Amino acid sequence: MGLFDLTGRVAIVTGGNGGIGLGMAKGMAAAGASLVVAARDEAKNAEAVGELERLGAQAIAVRVDVTDEASCQAMVQAALDRFGRLDVLVNNAGTNIRKQPEAYTLEEWRLILDTNLTSAFMCSQAAHPAMQQAGGGKIVMIGSMMSLFGASFTSAYAATKGGIVQLAKALACAWAKDNIQVNAVLPGWIDSALTRRARRDIQGLEERVSARTPAGRWGTPDDFAGIAVFLASPASDFITGATITVDGGYSVQG
Ligand code: NDP
Repeated sequence: MGLFDLTGRVAIVTGGNGGIGLGMAKGMAAAGASLVVAARDEAKNAEAVGELERLGAQAIAVRVDVTDEASCQAMVQAALDRFGRLDVLVNNAGTNIRKQPEAYTLEEWRLILDTNLTSAFMCSQAAHPAMQQAGGGKIVMIGSMMSLFGASFTSAYAATKGGIVQLAKALACAWAKDNIQVNAVLPGWIDSALTRRARRDIQGLEERVSARTPAGRWGTPDDFAGIAVFLASPASDFITGATITVDGGYSVQG
């Protein structure tokens, strides 16, 4: 089997029906993996499955709410029922509410924590037995520049994205015995549904991001195909607990 070959591997991508998640799913599909697209919007799920099938991959959609434990467990079961195994879990589902900390309600805080952080723990816990039984696996967490920096309007989001890096490290230590590698990817500013409103509403954001990014542009979902294949494949078998930026250099610009 080639270093980057995913033939015969099965990957779940939460939030895989668009944006960064679909970019990662497409990368893994092109490398031979079968995909489980796991998100709430069934129309978007079906469209994503169509895109993956057009790449020649086998793919299914599972309607999942990652804030619900039973839903996370059912997602893993659906992957096992359809494909008989599970090799890769990408904990990508996420959301944000941009406002000052003093304006946050506890309900909003909990929604962000449940969607971005507790979800990753529950899905990883649900996936662990199947990976353990298969003799190994790969878990990929999606952090953010807010895993590294703060911003006034992003207290809950930053707390989850800092937390997810530490969760990756702790799971990496715990499950190395099971040959499961757990790593975190930190995207820079990427053109997706999540950032489209911010781009429209925050004056000058579009230009500020491009100016600060050494690559001179916003990222695209397709920029995540390569890192997904790398972290899902045997090429990364001795890499665990690592944090990898995919940001066009945004976080190293002084
Ligand atoms: P999108 O809004 O395109 O993707 C978010 C995905 O999460 C959607 O597919 C959505 O699907 C899914 N999702 C949200 N809530 C739930 C839920 N409760 N249960 C299941 N699925 C859910 O944005 P991005 O692609 O940008 O975001 C993907 C990840 O990347 C997020 O974790 C985000 O924080 C992170 N990120 C993004 C950056 C950017 O610049 N775009 C920068 C740094 C990090 P559905 O609504 O159908 O459930």
